[in-house]
Amino acid sequence: MFRGKIRIRFQRMNFETACIEDLNLNQGFLITETPFSDVDKSIRNMGGPRSPLYGSGPSEINEFADRYRCKCGKRIGAVFEGEECPDCHTLIEYKDIDILYTGWFLRIILS
Ligand SMILES: [Zn+2]
Repeated sequence: MFRGKIRIRFQRMNFETACIEDLNLNQGFLITETPFSDVDKSIRNMGGPRSPLYGSGPSEINEFADRYRCKCGKRIGAVFEGEECPDCHTLIEYKDIDILYTGWFLRIILS
């Protein structure tokens, strides 16, 4: 049994640096749109805070189809597993959702 004191040290996070790193490493995107399409409210905007870039949810038509994809993301679905994408020439295989993929709001301060 552990009886000593546990010290937790907090560090300030530089969100600007984290945002730039995510964008450079293709692990995030800038949120520039509203959550849903103006025409059909069931369609999520690609650049919105509920973007399909995060992955599909259980209530969608193609739920979990994006688990099988190529690098560029144009070919998705388990039916294509093992094939080569004609666009990016990578193998279509199972890839779990990246929970660290981040959408960033860009805040501009006007002075
Ligand atoms: Zn591809």
